[in-house]
Amino acid sequence: MSNHPVSGAEVRKAYLDFFAGRGHTVVPSASLIPVDPTLLLTVAGMVPFKPYLLGEERAPYPRATTSQKCIRTVDIDIVGTTARHMSFFEMLGNFSFGDYFKEKAIPWAYEFSTEVLGFDPERLWFTVHHSDDDAASIWIDQVGVPANRVQRRDRDNFWQMGVAGPAGLSSELFYDRGPALGDDGGPVVDEERFMEFWNLVFMQYVQDEPYHVVGDLPAKSIDTGAGLERVALLTQGVANVFATDLVQTVLAAGERATAVRYGASPAADVSLRILADHGRAITFLIADGVVPSNEGRGYVLRRLLRRAVRHAWQLGAQRAVTPHLVDATIDVMSPGYPALRGSRDGIVEMAEREEMRFRRTLESGHTLLAGELEGIGEGGTLPGATAFKLHDTFGFPVELTEEIAA
Ligand code: ATP
Ligand code: MG
Repeated sequence: MSNHPVSGAEVRKAYLDFFAGRGHTVVPSASLIPVDPTLLLTVAGMVPFKPYLLGEERAPYPRATTSQKCIRTVDIDIVGTTARHMSFFEMLGNFSFGDYFKEKAIPWAYEFSTEVLGFDPERLWFTVHHSDDDAASIWIDQVGVPANRVQRRDRDNFWQMGVAGPAGLSSELFYDRGPALGDDGGPVVDEERFMEFWNLVFMQYVQDEPYHVVGDLPAKSIDTGAGLERVALLTQGVANVFATDLVQTVLAAGERATAVRYGASPAADVSLRILADHGRAITFLIADGVVPSNEGRGYVLRRLLRRAVRHAWQLGAQRAVTPHLVDATIDVMSPGYPALRGSRDGIVEMAEREEMRFRRTLESGHTLLAGELEGIGEGGTLPGATAFKLHDTFGFPVELTEEIAA
């Protein structure tokens, strides 16, 4: 028996304990709805702390550590097709507000990875910004990692939010998942074999537009982010984030709800992974007070929910699947997020109502499309106007029209 954390809950606890033991205040996850009006959703662990980094507000503690709920809409389209991307995930982080800098953040990340998580040092790779001799020297001279496993990159190691605000050089940790998954040569060669699991950002600059530095922050700070599900993938030695204990139960709920077995076909597997991911995302969005609508956050929720239902419908599921996904998510996640238990009924009800509404759209759109296609016959072409009407009047997804017509 190893004494290293394995389950998602164990990893989360080990992380917070490690940094609490090094002077960090453990702060509970903030809502997915940020206070910051310039952001739609919480996309990273640093979001709730932005005013402290900018010096707009005095931080109530010099060091903090969190496991922050995040939603990344930029990754929605690839969810299910890579081993490591989800729309909803938790980001473990340790923060310094004008307190320690690289000289502590780097050795602590290495110590946690090798000693607490028990990662084989031979499998770890690192990146730094090409101009960052300090970070390279801390890795090589202070921590003692082989110089050939510290790779230098350009914009990939300059962290910024895409808007005016704080920015800094970054250093990332990668785990070599083995030659079966890609070519040798480190993360500059292959990012599925060499999987990023932790990003250390050395907050130092102010930019007025992406990559354009106009000055320095009032103080140098640290912002790190490690994806909990990616770390759990590594501690559990499984193929992807969907096979970790944090997500697997939700995926199994999707199998039962659709009566499709995981492993039946590559396309069905992608659909089941999407159901698992989107099921988690809609549960946490509704729990944080988001309501399906046609704009803003409500639209993100509606898009995720409809995409999940479309995949379930294509897998042949006749009855509502979202209540099962929500239930499974709450079962797995309520130890870490106890408030979920009390809101179970309300979340299930909202998801199911939105699902049934969209299922009626799917049914009537499908009937109309089937009629049109019969009129055209084999080898004919569906008029663009029909596809437009299906989408515009009925809300029938264009991708579905394309697939069915083909
Ligand atoms: P990648 O290039 O692999 O997409 P990233 O550079 O977008 O990662 P960061 O923005 O640095 O990632 O986020 C910090 C950490 O959060 C990453 O090291 C990773 O562990 C985790 N993370 C980022 N995006 C996702 C995602 N879509 N799903 C799960 N974990 C993620
Ligand atoms: Mg990314």
